[in-house]
Amino acid sequence: MILEMLTVGPFQENCYIIGDENTGEGALIDPGDEATRIALAIGQTRLDIGRIIITHAHIDHVGAVATLGDEYACPVLLHPEAEPMLQQMSTQAMMMGVRFGKVPKVDGYIQDEELLEIGSLRLRAMYTPGHAPGHLSFYEANEGLVLSGDALFAGSVGRVDLPGGSMEVLLRSIEERLLPLPDETRVYSGHGPATTIGDERATNPFLGGRLR
Ligand SMILES: [Zn+2]
Ligand SMILES: [Zn+2]
Repeated sequence: MILEMLTVGPFQENCYIIGDENTGEGALIDPGDEATRIALAIGQTRLDIGRIIITHAHIDHVGAVATLGDEYACPVLLHPEAEPMLQQMSTQAMMMGVRFGKVPKVDGYIQDEELLEIGSLRLRAMYTPGHAPGHLSFYEANEGLVLSGDALFAGSVGRVDLPGGSMEVLLRSIEERLLPLPDETRVYSGHGPATTIGDERATNPFLGGRLR
């Protein structure tokens, strides 16, 4: 497996390039900004980007989607409930005081529990709302990793003060979908360093130090 993390833009968002080095198939997750830098990093992996996958439609996660979607001529996918927020990119940009790019075209939807095949990788979509509408996390069981978007961070959880946010819903998403994953599962978040499910279950102050 190839997994590259690039931290981009004013919100220091983590974009991920993931793929199978044997088949050369790859996907791009949450290209939030700095399209040129992301394209350079993709070039170095030699992966063929077949999809752009969006965990949720906050501007820090989707700012470079339109540019890179054109560049790789590949489908842009998200959960249907995330699409309305994508259409409000200009409003989001104004609120956050950042540059506004082109609104990307959505080519298809990802449903809860859907399996996305990338070469030998199997990313399982997990519906984890609460931080943003239609938020998805992606679990790869064989590799023992989860891309948690802005649901779960090392030592924290996503903010819930933006439209559609709810702490109750977010904590339920984390508890019901993310914490049941094996302790050793590596967690790659939308911001900040990687962690593990076991560390977060034991030490994340928002999760009350639940032990198995
Ligand atoms: Zn977000
Ligand atoms: Zn974010």
